[in-house]
Amino acid sequence: MEPAILFVLGAILGSFLNVVIYRLPRKQSIVSPGSTCPFCSHRLRPWENVPIVSYLVLRGRCSKCRHRIPIRYFIVEVLTPVLLLTVFAFYGLSWPFFKNSLLILLLIPIVFIDLDHRLILNKITLPGMALGLALSIAEHPQQFYQPVLGMLAGGGLLWLIAILGQIMYKQESMGGGDIKLGAMIGAFMNPQSILLALFLAFFIAALFSVVGMVIGKLQRHNTIPFGPFIAAGAYAVVSFKQQIVMLYLNYIMR
Ligand SMILES: [Zn+2]
Repeated sequence: MEPAILFVLGAILGSFLNVVIYRLPRKQSIVSPGSTCPFCSHRLRPWENVPIVSYLVLRGRCSKCRHRIPIRYFIVEVLTPVLLLTVFAFYGLSWPFFKNSLLILLLIPIVFIDLDHRLILNKITLPGMALGLALSIAEHPQQFYQPVLGMLAGGGLLWLIAILGQIMYKQESMGGGDIKLGAMIGAFMNPQSILLALFLAFFIAALFSVVGMVIGKLQRHNTIPFGPFIAAGAYAVVSFKQQIVMLYLNYIMR
């Protein structure tokens, strides 16, 4: 029963995140007005606003102007509950589940806004840092320094890489937004976990670049936003840290 309720709740949250993804970078209010078609401003009626279902029933088109609604709306409405369910599978209904779910709900709009606008907004990362610190300290008050060190490690490592990139390539390789994102995720974790997350982020990004160049979708001069890789690394650590460490100990340390 719980997973079903969680799925519905996650889809509703995903629907709200779509509003955030569209409106926050455009400096529009995320509370009012209600949902509208981004093309003809047609106000969505309740039945057109049911997460996942409406997209399928309307076959991805606005009921009024018939303009194609970006597939992103559907992806976010499905992705959000699926990611929350994987966290639930690992932690059950518990404090870590609550904390990690909130981290994921921050990461999803960060990723999709970064993909669309090449921007990681302070409006998300700065409150996210405060939230991460508060939740981590509430979880283990005696170890209040862990999330603080996590923030410093996450932000610090990316800042160092940004400076090195500046010196070596004479151009910006890592933006301030990435640095703040690293610090935000660190606030939800401890130094070891955020460093593992960033290591995985670089690993996934390198793999993505190599595959992209091999299949000819990516040229050497193409730049790709790094935020989605940082988020992917963080998600992997949140959900699969035990498995990653076991894999490392079993295969690489041998
Ligand atoms: Zn429309």
